[in-house]
This record gives sequence, structure tokens and C-alpha cells, in this order.
Amino acid sequence: MKPLAATETMLQLAQLMENAGNLIAVYDPEDRLRFANGAFRAAWFIGGDEEPLWSDLMRRNYHARRGTVIETADFETWLRSTQARRGKTGFRAFETDLHDGRWLWMTETMQADGWMLCVASDISSIRTDERALRQDRDLAIKASQTDELTGLPSRRYVMGKLAELVCGAGATDQHAGCLAVLDIDNFKYINDRFGHGVGDAILKDFAITLQRHVRKTDIFGRVGGEEFLLILPNTPMEGAESIVQRMLLAVRQSSPLPDQTGFHYTFSAGLARAARGDDPADVYRRADLALYAAKMQGRDRISIESQTQRTANP
Ligand code: GH3
Ligand code: MG
Ligand code: MG
Repeated sequence: MKPLAATETMLQLAQLMENAGNLIAVYDPEDRLRFANGAFRAAWFIGGDEEPLWSDLMRRNYHARRGTVIETADFETWLRSTQARRGKTGFRAFETDLHDGRWLWMTETMQADGWMLCVASDISSIRTDERALRQDRDLAIKASQTDELTGLPSRRYVMGKLAELVCGAGATDQHAGCLAVLDIDNFKYINDRFGHGVGDAILKDFAITLQRHVRKTDIFGRVGGEEFLLILPNTPMEGAESIVQRMLLAVRQSSPLPDQTGFHYTFSAGLARAARGDDPADVYRRADLALYAAKMQGRDRISIESQTQRTANP
């Protein structure tokens, strides 16, 4: 009887979701749509059996001026900065409006494995008077969390996420993930040789190139001039190292100056382990020491904190 009852419940659940007044969808860790009820598909113009990537869905609707209202002249930069914060929190809720005039209250619930549940409710008739004020507030929050040049999360945002990583649930000393400090090599020379404008273009190229290798649950932001932080939650050191190795390769192969196709640049990285109960400043310091070692060893490489650094400075 038990399996039958479970099947019955699943069928009822499926029917309830289809007939709910809400718009419901589920995305997988690659941010591909894996389930959406009819109301969700209708609002974002998704065919009955389509499973688009979230980025492709937003792009095609933006160009067709339907679905979510997105106020930007540069869609790809908007996409990057939104993607850099999408799915980084267990639960997030915000207001959004559609081209058809509807106003939605959208919630996103993330699982640690990267699956996401989205539920939107129509709030078109509620509190219309303060709507502009709330939208301005959300835009100001987004601006404070974003680095203007690259569209990546800002220092403030990334440092907050590092603190969350080490204070999250779990026993003290339990492995929480890894932190990488990434720094572009010889950037002062690049600025001096080609000018500040080219330096800025390389910073943007670095952000775009690396973001292709950042998983949905990772956090990648710009914390200083040519210094970046990558937080890799629930990742062993070997996994973190192979992700950063792929990033080193991708940057080596990048050719960011259209007029000088022979121009290439590199970066160096320092990796440290982060455990529950660690002081975030200490994790950063250990990764930074490892970065210094990578620079000393000749740049364009990874260095991992030595065990002695960790035990000598608990
Ligand atoms: P290393 O390989 O040891 O990291 O050498 P480096 O030259 O990259 O390091 P250094 O810290 O000496 O130089 C960093 C330079 O980055 C100095 C500064 O002029 C430049 N810089 C900082 N912020 C920006 C920015 O927003 N745009 C540009 N174009 N340059 C910046
Ligand atoms: Mg540098
Ligand atoms: Mg530097």
C-alpha cells in the first residue's frame, strides 16, 4: 500500500502545482529549467517541453521585450552581475515586474547541491503606492553589492559571504570549503605599457573569462585593483585546485586586445582551507600568504597554504 500512497501523493502534488495561483519553477545546478507549471511557462513564454538555461531564457525575452522588465542598455553586463548573485543565498525574496503589467513577489529557495525552487505570486494590487520607493531601495542594495567596472560582486558582498561560510551550520573545525585569492600578474607593467583604458579592458576580460568557470554555488568577486576572491563552499582542496587550474589555462588562452592578438596575460592564485569557526580574516591572510608564494615561484601558478601556516596560526 505504501508505494501506491506515495504515488498518489506525487500525482496530487503535481496537480496542485499545475492549478496553483502561483508561478512555480525548478532549476538544476547548471541553471537549466527542469520543471515549470503552466502559469510560469506562460509568463516567460516557455514551450511545454522546453528546458532552457536561465541565461538563455532571460536573453531571448529581453530582446523580444517580454517576460521580466529589465532596465539596461547593456544586457550582457546586466546578466553577468545578476548571475553573480543568483543562487548564492539559501532564500531570497524580491519584487519584479513583467512587461504584461503584472507585479510579482518572487522567492528563490536554494539547496546546498545547487537545485533551486522559484515561486512567484501576483501582487499587482498590493501596496502600489510605495512600489517605486521599494524598487529604488533594491537598486541601491544591488549597487552596493556590485563592482561597477566588472559587474562582479563587490568587496563588501564577498567578505560577507566569507564570514557566512565559516560561521555556517556544522561542528567547529569541520571543512567548510576553500578560498582562493587571485591576482593578475605584472598588471602595473600592463597599465604603464598600454594605458589605463587597456588595463580596465583586461580587468573586464578577466571577470568574463573566469565567470565561465564559476559554479552556481561559488562566489567570485573583485576585492581590490587587480585582486579577486573566489569562495568555493563544500569543496575539497583537490577540487578547488583543479577549478583554478582550468581558470589559469583559460586566462592564458585569452586574447583580450583586438588590435594586438599576440597579447596575453596571466594571474597567480593562493588557496586556503576554510573550516567552521575560522576567523574570516585569518582564512584570507593564509590564502594571501599562499598567493605571495605563487608570485615568488614565478607567477602564472597556484600555491596552496602549507599545513604549518594553518597550525602555526590557528
Ligand atoms: P604582481 O605580478 O606582483 O601582482 O605585480 P603587479 O604589477 O600586478 O602588482 P602591483 O600591486 O604592483 O600593481 C597593481 C596595479 O594595478 C597598480 C595600479 O595602478 C593598478 N590598478 C589598480 N586598480 C586599477 C583599475 O581599476 N584599473 C586599472 N587600469 N589599473 C588599476
Ligand atoms: Mg598583480
Ligand atoms: Mg595586487
